[in-house]
Formats: sequence, structure tokens, C-alpha cells
Amino acid sequence: MGIVPVKTPSIIKKLLPDFVWEFFTSEKVLFLTFDDGPTPEITQCTLDTLKQFNAKATFFCIGTNIQKHPHIFQSILKDGHRIGNHSNTHLKGWKTSVKDYVLNVNSAQEIINSEILKAETSAQKLNASPIFRPPYGQIKPSQGKALKAMGYTVITWSILSFDWDKDISGETCYLNVIKNSKPGNIIVFHDSVKASKNLKHALPKVLAYFTEKGYEFKTLPL
Ligand SMILES: [Zn+2]
Repeated sequence: MGIVPVKTPSIIKKLLPDFVWEFFTSEKVLFLTFDDGPTPEITQCTLDTLKQFNAKATFFCIGTNIQKHPHIFQSILKDGHRIGNHSNTHLKGWKTSVKDYVLNVNSAQEIINSEILKAETSAQKLNASPIFRPPYGQIKPSQGKALKAMGYTVITWSILSFDWDKDISGETCYLNVIKNSKPGNIIVFHDSVKASKNLKHALPKVLAYFTEKGYEFKTLPL
């Protein structure tokens, strides 16, 4: 599985306190997040599965994917999920200047905002503070600082499902999540083609497992 852990170590959270890694609560609540969509092959199926369990989630969308598939983006909004920014072109922070990084993130936010304005009904408010998740988890401190100054909150994660990893099974992906998640955790999945096989297996099982234990799945509360 490489060097990246399923569960974010507390030392990392302490070293990068400006990022949101989790929410501290004793309530049985989990925050599912889906990166990289909207994707025709998997996003609608993800929405249908969430609906079956009355679960809300947050979708960190790529700007160019929203432009290609605006109707899918509208379905996400219509179902009452929260939208996050995942950059315009899924760029790598460590290889990008601060200026280019901020421009790219702002371009995605403009697309997100204009689509939210088109929505007839949406739980997402346009004036909600924008949330951003760095692609590949790569972001320089200077980029994080610049985004924060512009009002973005950088959301990282507590748990990685590893759904994108073709070397693991859907069952392992499911076990990664259920064995490690605690109340208030932020869990990463992907509504991408690459992750779709593992996601289709793991997501309904994760939802069933925690629903049975009395958990609720909510949009990120910020
Ligand atoms: Zn991504």
C-alpha cells in the first residue's frame, strides 16, 4: 500500500494545524467525501447509493469535469450534498507556483459558483465559505497560506479508503474504512473511473455498517 497510511497520524495533523483533518465530536457522525468528479461512469451511481441510506456527503469536484458534465454536477446539488473545490485541472501543488496554483483554484471556484447560481434548489449556499482539497494531498505551506487569505478552508482527511488502488480489493477498501473510522472523521473516496470498481463494492457496505451502528452521514459542517 506504499508509505501513505490509511489513517492520518496525529503528528501530521499537529504539524499542519491550518488544515481540517477531522471534527471533534462524540456524536455518531461521519463525513464522506468524494474527489475527482463529476464522472459519467460513477457519480450518478454514487448519488443513488447515498440516497438509499439517506446519507449526505461532500463532493470535491474538478472544474474542467464540471464544465464537461454540468448536468451531473446539478444532480449532486439537487440531492443536497456539499460542493468542494478540487482545483480546475487536478494540478500538483509541489510542482506549481503559488500564483498559478491560486489562479487554478479560483477558476474552479468560478465554475462552481456559476453552476450553483443556475441550480433551482440547492442546500449549498453560494455565500458558504469555499472549501478546497488539494489534489494528491500536495500543497505547499505558501499555497495554503495564500488560499486561506482568500477565504478558502483547506480540507484534508482522517481516513483514506485507497479506493483508487488497483492492487487492493473492494473488500480491503471497505475494511480500511470500517476498521479505522471514529466519530467526526473525514473519509476519502473518489467518484472516478479508476476507483469505481472498489467504490461500488465498498460504499454500500460502509453505509450499511455504520447506519446499523447508529451513525449519520453529513455534509462537512463549514
Ligand atoms: Zn484528486
